Amino acid sequence: MNRPVNVVLDIRQTSDPPTDAAELRELWTRVEKYLAGTSLRATEKVVVPLRDDQTCVLWIQDRLRAPDRVDDTTVFSIRGVLEPATVRHRCTTCSAAGVVTYGPFLCSGCDQGDQPGRVCDEHAVVIEGRMTATCARHRPACSCGAAATFWCNGELCRGRNAFCDRHRVGHPGGVDMSYCRDCFRQKFPDCAAQGCNSTGSIACEFVVDGRRATCGNAACARHAYRWQIFGPHKRGLGLCPEHALRLKSLEDRQIVFQIVAGTANRRRGPRTDNRRTYLRLPRLTIVRHIFINSRSRKLEIHSIDRMFGELQHDNRTDGVMRRLLQEHEKIRKEDLAAAERDGARGRELFDKLTAWLRARGRAEVANHISFADYRPRSNLLFVNVEPEYLGRFIGRGGAEKRAVSNDLGVRVEVERK
Ligand SMILES: [Zn+2]
Ligand SMILES: [Zn+2]
Ligand SMILES: [Zn+2]
Ligand SMILES: [Zn+2]
Ligand SMILES: [Zn+2]
Ligand SMILES: [Zn+2]
Repeated sequence: MNRPVNVVLDIRQTSDPPTDAAELRELWTRVEKYLAGTSLRATEKVVVPLRDDQTCVLWIQDRLRAPDRVDDTTVFSIRGVLEPATVRHRCTTCSAAGVVTYGPFLCSGCDQGDQPGRVCDEHAVVIEGRMTATCARHRPACSCGAAATFWCNGELCRGRNAFCDRHRVGHPGGVDMSYCRDCFRQKFPDCAAQGCNSTGSIACEFVVDGRRATCGNAACARHAYRWQIFGPHKRGLGLCPEHALRLKSLEDRQIVFQIVAGTANRRRGPRTDNRRTYLRLPRLTIVRHIFINSRSRKLEIHSIDRMFGELQHDNRTDGVMRRLLQEHEKIRKEDLAAAERDGARGRELFDKLTAWLRARGRAEVANHISFADYRPRSNLLFVNVEPEYLGRFIGRGGAEKRAVSNDLGVRVEVERK
């Protein structure tokens, strides 16, 4: 038997290359037919024309030992086949045009069964706001029907919806970010103050119903009012201009409801927000100041406590508010006891004050004053003085008031009505 001629069959440039043994044999038959009568000694590369302008290439490994002329007795040994690389992830768009291209991107619109749809670099459409691609056919559309140009990452859309340029609203701060109209309005609502064009950055926390729904208006920093019910160092409740005004016309118990409901709403915030502070209801002494500051009303600490107690036992009060009020109950008891002690001490000081006046022959003045308030921390004793006796009580240039303050060891002040 003749020595076989070792060849490598290169079918990388052959479109529609053989995929099984039968097809390979058929191709080889054609190759042998072409080679019959030719010499293989001249070259190591033989290009074999196939039908339809196709070719395959034969690399002759040991051409010098090949027979002078190929005939029926020539034996070939195919030592290797160079095949085109298989593209496992083919671009769907290219495939439809009969071209095989690698598709690095996924287009979910092109998915077929469990076969994920693929798209090549050239056919991939990536629109702003999300690092995902589609093919042109599956490019997302805006709700208006036009081709979308960006994904909205606002609160309402969270990257699920895409919009066209006509329905795009840019970030007001010039940040390279766009929103759909709804998300924009949600994130940057107009200030509720009339004629103000600013963005309302502070949401009104006024509670408008028994289920603790809030007003929903927003106001800019200039027009919003911070109702400092948690003391000076914690962010108070934000109020729109309308509701800041409304505070003044509310009944006392409605004020208490706003304080409790507003605090309950603050607790509803996400636990992951580390800016969230653990808020309790304000102490009765602070509530007393709230009434003084926001409504110029001086209330007895007992009557404030009563209003909290009534709300706590009102069966329309929801669970969160009730729990807040239950926690608060202990603090209220402490505040009441402290007020009791302060009141007793204040009255004691007041008795000393009237005795001091009588001892100085000023019984008439003593008969026309009454105890108003005692603040031990600022060492202040407030007294009510009937207007006609004001001058005599204070004395020329405040001399009498100073004298009694010195003798009693407490600063005496006239309670302003
Ligand atoms: Zn493609
Ligand atoms: Zn697609
Ligand atoms: Zn949106
Ligand atoms: Zn649109
Ligand atoms: Zn404003
Ligand atoms: Zn409001």
